[in-house]
Amino acid sequence: MPCSQTCCKRCNVRLDEIQHQPTAVATLQRALRNDRVAHAFLFEGPDGVGKETTASALTSCLLCRSTDKNGEACGVCDSCRMFAGGSHPDFQRVHRGLHRQHPDLRVRRTTGLFLTIDIVRHFLVAPAAVTPRLGGGRVFIVAEAERMTDDAQNALLKTLEEPPGRTVIMLLTSAASRLLSTIRSRCRRVQFNALPREFVEHVLTHRVAVPPHHATMLANLCGGRVGLALRWRQLGLLDELPPIAALIEQAHHGHFDGFADALIERIKLLAKRITAAERGDAASETDADESEDSAIDGDNETEEESAAKGAKLGTDVLRDAAKLLLMLMAALVRDGLLLAEGADPKFLLLGKSRLAEMLARSGDAAGLSAAITAVARCEQMLDANVNQKMAFDRLCLGLNRVSAIAN
Ligand SMILES: [Zn+2]
Repeated sequence: MPCSQTCCKRCNVRLDEIQHQPTAVATLQRALRNDRVAHAFLFEGPDGVGKETTASALTSCLLCRSTDKNGEACGVCDSCRMFAGGSHPDFQRVHRGLHRQHPDLRVRRTTGLFLTIDIVRHFLVAPAAVTPRLGGGRVFIVAEAERMTDDAQNALLKTLEEPPGRTVIMLLTSAASRLLSTIRSRCRRVQFNALPREFVEHVLTHRVAVPPHHATMLANLCGGRVGLALRWRQLGLLDELPPIAALIEQAHHGHFDGFADALIERIKLLAKRITAAERGDAASETDADESEDSAIDGDNETEEESAAKGAKLGTDVLRDAAKLLLMLMAALVRDGLLLAEGADPKFLLLGKSRLAEMLARSGDAAGLSAAITAVARCEQMLDANVNQKMAFDRLCLGLNRVSAIAN
């Protein structure tokens, strides 16, 4: 079965099986056919739209010893089998979790939030300088390239400029502007775009058996980024809808006490689930720290058990969790606004809910619009590193504007 562009980091998907990214795929196929593959690519576009799967498919083609006339991998040679099995000696996926495999204890003890110079030097720059074990070329995929520190990017420049032998480096990013211009200018840029909503829903319902109602909600929220939808499903994001709806209702009725503290508590719990999921991902890719990481498997844990594992929460993770909950909040209020304006319920992001109906009944459009603006402003405040409690106190007032105007 063709890959859904989401199933794994190293799958056997062929380039011609990649769906809904025709421009990117055509660019790469043309390069393969003409034997003019660039030595450095920058795959840019939203998270979760197939950059990683496409990079994996291109890697297969580059490593295969018996490609067809179009340059597609055969899927059966030793090299193809080793790559599919995750054991190809001339392939390296460079990602944040690699700090755990670094020989230096000091690096292993870092948080893994960034792609540091230590990771880039050890797992990319140094191996790129060594002759490929199988005599072909070497391929490196750098995930979340925008997380490279400036030092790391500078350390990579020379390798990008003059890669040894038949080395190909693919930098994957959703934020190309955060890379140094000197990095961007050395790469062949390939653009990826958001996926159709129907495709996202299909993947969710058919590949991971998400109930149709939830699949619709996740597809509506993710904006064509199926990888994010799958991530949110893994995190149980929709489980946060009832408590977030309760907080909106609380603010709507003017009960300010405890709003900020309750929201901060929800954020911490979600952040711990995000951290656990990231650590689980890293463990599955590294083989390292098995005893530590095998315990962190979100599926069978309660929130509290997971939280009790006490992974240190980084500021980035807390901000990500806060933004996810604010996204739910904005969607819930937006649904109330749509209902207030008489929209067909089929256009609601999260379907008809008690809260949306309550907001529609009691708030007017101006008040609900102001509430949505308040959520957006809160997100901006978090980005500007404003104190969380202060931002949430203001948010609570903004949400209460619904009733203030209605009354
Ligand atoms: Zn092959």
